[in-house]
Amino acid sequence: MKNTSSILGAYGTTIFEVMSQLALQHQAINLGQGFPDEDGPRDIREVAAKALLDGPNQYPSMMGIPELRQAVAAHDKRFYGIDANWQSDVLVTSGATEALAACILGLVNPGDEVVLFEPLYDCYLPIIQLAGGIPKFVRLDPPRWEIDPAALRAAFSPRTKMILMNSPMNPTGKVFTAEELNLIADLVREFDTFAVCDEVYEHIVFQGSRHIPLMTLPGMGERTARIASAGKTFSLTGWKVGYVTAPAAMTARIAKAHQFLTFTTPPDLQKAVAYGLAKGDDFYSDLAQSMQSKRDLLRDGLRSIGFATADCDGTYFINADISSIGFNGTDEEFCRLITTEAGVAAVPVSAFYPSEGARRNFARFCFCKRPEVLEAAIMKLRDFFAK
Ligand code: PMP
Ligand code: GLN
Repeated sequence: MKNTSSILGAYGTTIFEVMSQLALQHQAINLGQGFPDEDGPRDIREVAAKALLDGPNQYPSMMGIPELRQAVAAHDKRFYGIDANWQSDVLVTSGATEALAACILGLVNPGDEVVLFEPLYDCYLPIIQLAGGIPKFVRLDPPRWEIDPAALRAAFSPRTKMILMNSPMNPTGKVFTAEELNLIADLVREFDTFAVCDEVYEHIVFQGSRHIPLMTLPGMGERTARIASAGKTFSLTGWKVGYVTAPAAMTARIAKAHQFLTFTTPPDLQKAVAYGLAKGDDFYSDLAQSMQSKRDLLRDGLRSIGFATADCDGTYFINADISSIGFNGTDEEFCRLITTEAGVAAVPVSAFYPSEGARRNFARFCFCKRPEVLEAAIMKLRDFFAK
């Protein structure tokens, strides 16, 4: 066989797939890959089912069906006061993953620098590399995941094309504060760059924290793309319906990439997501509250076994310090061990640090599961480590 992509050749299979397969093989409770074990609202699924039967089922507009673009614009206005024109500033994509690819491929030229916080979500770096971009990492460390302002400034240069950030942040559970966002916005303005914000966990934020889109800060609306996903908001991760809100000129560039990636997204799912986004405030607050109680359950359980846990103010994930129970191996060894021997799968946090020198003593546990499943996982871990 001839040589294939050397950029992708350097990557193995994603850690999510690896750990999910291992969990299946060992019939372990899967607290690795992040997906809820209960499907989202039945009425949303019914709208999709009806649209599947009644149609239309042909290609919708490449920008997304008007109903969904209008619903995204209305959602952004309702929650954040963002004034987006649904016709020019909103693009529907096949999941946040495609939105990320379209933003990166649409905005980055070979040789452009892209500022990223480590740990980072797994698809960011390969897509940047495929676009010819050069990553500049700013490291955040557990348990507080604090930004070092000097390190952040040092990552910017006249060659910076954009910052790609994720808040609420996977895998850390960090929700960026207004102060941190201001620090970022100052640099974005000073170096005249774009910002691409992955906000898929926008509605999974816990008491004491608030999600603030970078886009809403002074001067950011004209240079920021905000990405969200129905997968997380409606607990339907397999649907892969994402959406981007960005100023018209940026949206047009992002759409140029989107038209050659997927072009469009299933219209029945788009229709159902449009319906879902209009749900009342109760739906959104119930989602956050239910996830918060799951976080509390898992966090308290992990602590009762002796694990120290890192801060977690949002997302599906909490990180446990494996050295705090006296485990001296790597996070990867730990995650394999608990999957095969304790019957609980987790994900090693070092998998999210592509540059050298990451700490290898944290494991990411996913808590978007039914309480009885979380309780069973805690019991299995407790029994295993009691031995
Ligand atoms: N960004 C982050 C931070 C994620 O955790 C995920 C995965 N769930 C995605 C993007 C991908 O979202 P989607 O499934 O909508 O492509
Ligand atoms: N976002 C999910 C996670 O972090 C995984 C999505 C995927 O498997 N691609 O676990």
